[in-house]
Amino acid sequence: MMQPVNITSHHGMPSYWLDRKGLCTGTLIFGVGMRDEPPAQAGITHLVEHLLLRRVQPVTVLHGGTVTTDSLQFYASGRPEDVAGFLNAIAAAALTLEAVTDEDLTFEKFVLEAEDPHKFSTVSSGLLTYRFGTNGVGAAHFGAPATAGLTKAETIEWAGRWLTAGNAAVTFTGPLPASLDIRLPPGVPVRHHQDPPLVTAPTLIKSRKRGIAVSLLVPSRDAGLLCEALRYELLARLRHSRGLIYSVENFTTPIDDRLSQLDLILDPVQANTVPALQEGVLTLRGIAEAGFSKDAAQSARNALVSELGWDEYVPQDYLDQLAIDGLLGRSTPDRQELLDQATIMSAAELTKMLRNSSGSLIIALDKSVKLRKTDAAKLGLAIDGYEIWQPLKDTEADHPAEESDGGHPTWRHKSSGATLTLSPTRLIRRASGKATTVSLADVAVVGDRSCGCVSLMDRRGRSSELNMDEWKASKKLRRKLLEAFPSGIIRSFPED
Ligand SMILES: [Zn+2]
Repeated sequence: MMQPVNITSHHGMPSYWLDRKGLCTGTLIFGVGMRDEPPAQAGITHLVEHLLLRRVQPVTVLHGGTVTTDSLQFYASGRPEDVAGFLNAIAAAALTLEAVTDEDLTFEKFVLEAEDPHKFSTVSSGLLTYRFGTNGVGAAHFGAPATAGLTKAETIEWAGRWLTAGNAAVTFTGPLPASLDIRLPPGVPVRHHQDPPLVTAPTLIKSRKRGIAVSLLVPSRDAGLLCEALRYELLARLRHSRGLIYSVENFTTPIDDRLSQLDLILDPVQANTVPALQEGVLTLRGIAEAGFSKDAAQSARNALVSELGWDEYVPQDYLDQLAIDGLLGRSTPDRQELLDQATIMSAAELTKMLRNSSGSLIIALDKSVKLRKTDAAKLGLAIDGYEIWQPLKDTEADHPAEESDGGHPTWRHKSSGATLTLSPTRLIRRASGKATTVSLADVAVVGDRSCGCVSLMDRRGRSSELNMDEWKASKKLRRKLLEAFPSGIIRSFPED
């Protein structure tokens, strides 16, 4: 018999706790995460987390903070009164964020850079961005170079909007300590907006990341089983039969109250990338045609039973999931329901689910790998180079007036014959007889880098770095470029 989860209210916040004596872990959870960040403020929740942790130092109880796609969490483990003291202090710090100094802000940006230098400086899109662009969950996957330019006023506004009692919950692996006194303003209700996917047909995306990834939109409820069955089939064919990969790593991200994005990452060495891609696609097709094997279904059931086979104690993860789902208006499946469902799930039902999801297939392939046209054609997937620079030809039709560069300012490359032309609606690059263009209206974030370079990222998360040193009259080019965009999307970026 599983122990009950007690649900009560603490100063207006739902609290989920267990009847368990002794040391405990307590978590203060806010319903704000990377999915809520506008592209020009990506990273702001993480910066707020760091500023609050800085404001409560020194802290001797074991503690930390974390930001996910859906949530911002502060937690501590130890004696109940120490855990309560830490969470009380975090809430007090959130209320007095104006007291943060410029030095605090500078130091925490250094700390964030040290935590993940690549993410701090680089625009590098991943699977959620490939599918959803830079908005909603897509914001969780393109890096956070805008962090460097975030202001104190922006962090105060962000905390004031999201860190409220109405958007918070508390979990404790024991009873709520008597000294727990988390005081937050009530706040106004928040909304989590999610645009529909931008990629709506099976597509192969040329990625800047290594290896291969397979991504599908699947029913959240069955994501775990489907994931394990797919992993079994991919390992059987790509690892055991062909020796092409070592592992299949997986990530599941809830998109709304019904669907999740399931991402499976394969790790072939560079030379085996194309064979692994071909075998991977054949595996998926084979399952869609002939169905999952009985072994794959059995392995999925076993994995789920083992994952959910806790003893009578409810794990902290489950409490946190209840709290996050509650804040985001989602339901959390009961463990027993999941176990019951796992035991009766058949290979045929799993196959049906995969077939229903197959229209959402995205495969990401390392773009540095050479894929021959004939091999690409055999995959039967739309191929997307994921380049922000699009052939000018495709778009000229709707902009006949721009067929010539007449009158628009043009810059010359210092060493090649390339030119850059800035029209009122687009940036055009001509090099070796080819003309490519970026539509200014599609740009979501412009990075004004401290080294003088300009970084462009469009709404799909496709990006380009323009190195001003390579162009004649670069000062004027930089100024004109920055003037071409609304000031709200221009951010200070660190040097690349
Ligand atoms: Zn951090």
